[in-house]
Amino acid sequence: MTAIVSTLKSLPFTQLRRNRYFYLWYDGFYAAVCATLLLAMYFSGHQPLIPVWDHRYWLLLPLACHAQILCSVYIHNATHNNFPRSVNRLVGELCGVVVLTRFASWEVIHQRHHRYSDDVEKDPHPVGPSYWRFLIDTIVNVERQLQKIYFDLYGESPETRRYEKNRAYVSYATNILLIATWYVFLGPLAFFLLFVPASVVGFFHLVHFNWSTHNAFSKDGDFKPVNLNHGYYRIGNWLWHGIYMHANHHKRAGMFNPAKMTPSLPITPPPSS
Ligand SMILES: [Zn+2]
Ligand SMILES: [Zn+2]
Repeated sequence: MTAIVSTLKSLPFTQLRRNRYFYLWYDGFYAAVCATLLLAMYFSGHQPLIPVWDHRYWLLLPLACHAQILCSVYIHNATHNNFPRSVNRLVGELCGVVVLTRFASWEVIHQRHHRYSDDVEKDPHPVGPSYWRFLIDTIVNVERQLQKIYFDLYGESPETRRYEKNRAYVSYATNILLIATWYVFLGPLAFFLLFVPASVVGFFHLVHFNWSTHNAFSKDGDFKPVNLNHGYYRIGNWLWHGIYMHANHHKRAGMFNPAKMTPSLPITPPPSS
C-alpha cells in the first residue's frame, strides 16, 4: 500500500533515477493491464463502441481532436506536478494512455527538454527552420534520447547498451498491446474514423507546438522559448490553458496556465511585422 501511495506521489523520472530497472516494471505493469483488459473483453463478448456508422458521428471528430490535444496539455501539466499531488501522477498516466506514448517517456523526455532547451545535442527536440524536418527528427530522436538519458544515469557499457535495446523492444511490444486494447474497446469504426485521425492531428499539433514556441520563424536562427498570442495562437491559448505562452512556461513551469504569469515576459509579434 505504501509503495502504491509513494508511486502515485512521485514522477517516473524520479523513479528511473532510483531504480535502473524502472522501465521493465512500468512496461510490465501496462502489458499486464492491457492483456487483462483484452481477455476480459474477449470473454465477455464486448461489442464495439460504434457498431454501425452514422454520418452524424463525423461531428465527434473535432471533439476527439480537441480531447487529444487537451490530453497533451494535461500530460504536460502533470509532468510539472501542476495538478494536486494526490492525483497528479494518475492524470499523467490516464492522458498517457490516450496519447499512446504513456506518461513515463513523455515526462522523462520533457524534463530533459527543460534542462537542455535549444541545445542542439542534448535537447530532445531542438528547433530548426523546417517544420517537416523537425517532425521527422522528433520521431527519430525520441528513442535515441531515452537511451541517452539512461546512459547519463547508469553509464554506457555493452551491458547497459544491451539492456536499453531490450527495453526498447519491451516498450514497443507494450505499445502494440495498448493500441490493440483501444482497437478492441472502440471497434474498427470508432478506431479508424475517430481515434486514429484525432491521434494523428494531436501528434502533428504537439510537434507544431514544440516547434513554433521555440521561435521557429526566427530568420537569424535565434531559437529560444517565446510567447505567442497572435492569430490562431490566441485561440489556442484560450482553448488550451495558455500553452503558447511558452517563454513564461520556461520561466515558471509550475504554473498551470502560463498566460496568467505576472509580470508576463514580452509577446513575440507575428513574423512579418
Ligand atoms: Zn519548450
Ligand atoms: Zn514544460
